[in-house]
Amino acid sequence: MTTTTTSSSTTTSSAGVSTANANLTPMDNASAASAAAATGLSTTGSGPSLAPMEPVSAPALHPLRRNCAGTPARDFCAWPLESFDEMDSTLAVQQMIQQSIRAHVEDVEGILRAPDTQDEGVWKYEHLRQFCMELNGLAVLLQSECVPETCTQMTATEQWIFLCAAHKTPKECPAIDYTRHTLDGAACLLNSNKYFPSRVSIKESSVAKLGSVCRRVYRIFSHAYFHHRQIFDDFEAQTCLCRRFTVFVTKYNLMSRDNLIVPMLEQDLEAGESEA
Ligand SMILES: [Zn+2]
Ligand SMILES: [Zn+2]
Repeated sequence: MTTTTTSSSTTTSSAGVSTANANLTPMDNASAASAAAATGLSTTGSGPSLAPMEPVSAPALHPLRRNCAGTPARDFCAWPLESFDEMDSTLAVQQMIQQSIRAHVEDVEGILRAPDTQDEGVWKYEHLRQFCMELNGLAVLLQSECVPETCTQMTATEQWIFLCAAHKTPKECPAIDYTRHTLDGAACLLNSNKYFPSRVSIKESSVAKLGSVCRRVYRIFSHAYFHHRQIFDDFEAQTCLCRRFTVFVTKYNLMSRDNLIVPMLEQDLEAGESEA
C-alpha cells in the first residue's frame, strides 16, 4: 500500500488509509471455504480472519475484499479485480488464481498462465490445492448416484481397478469411498507441515510429490466421465475443471499422456470425432 493521492481522489485522508490497512488479511477466499471445509483445506492460512466481521465501510480506493456475514449469494465476491502486483499478502497466489477463475472460468490457459517472476513450484502447488477444493464439488454431486452397491470399485474403463492408497495396505474401496479417501489424503498431504511448511517457497523434493496426487485425484474425473456422464457434463459445463486439470498436468508434465483418458484436449476431441 503506497501513496494513494490521485487527482480524482477527493476522499483519501490519513484516516481512510489506516482503515484499509487494518483489513489487509485476504478474504478473497470465503467462497471456497465451505467447499474446502469437508477436507480441511483451509482457504486462508490465518484462522482468526474467518470470524464474522462487522460490516466496515472501506474507502472507495480500497474496497473490502471479503464476503461479510449476511452477504446474499448474488453479491458473493462482487468486488473489483486487483492486479497481482497490488496483492500484498502471503496468499497472493491463491487470491490471484481464484480471481482469474471467477473472472473467466472457461479461459483455462489464462488461469494457468503464471505471472512473470512467479516461483513455479508454488504456482503448481497452489493450483493443485485449488483443484482439490473444487473437486469436492464434484464429489458432492456424485454422492447422489455413485453408491457402493452399484460402483463397488474405483474403475474408469474396464482396464484398471484402482486401489485406494489411504489405507495401510491399499484396498479396493467402492468408488465413492475412494473419492472421499483420496481427497482427504490429498488435503492432508497439501496441508502437511512437514512437506509444505510455507506457501511462499517450496522444496523441490516436496514439489515432486505433486505428480502422484494428480494421478490419484484424476481418477475421480475419469470415473465420473465413464460412469456418471450426466453429472460429469453438468459439472464440467459450469467449472471447466477437467479441461483445466488436463491442460495443467500436461503443461507441467505431472502425468503421462496415456493416463489422461478423458478426452479434453483439442487433439483428443478431433481424434474422437474421426473415430466415430
Ligand atoms: Zn460411481
Ligand atoms: Zn479407501
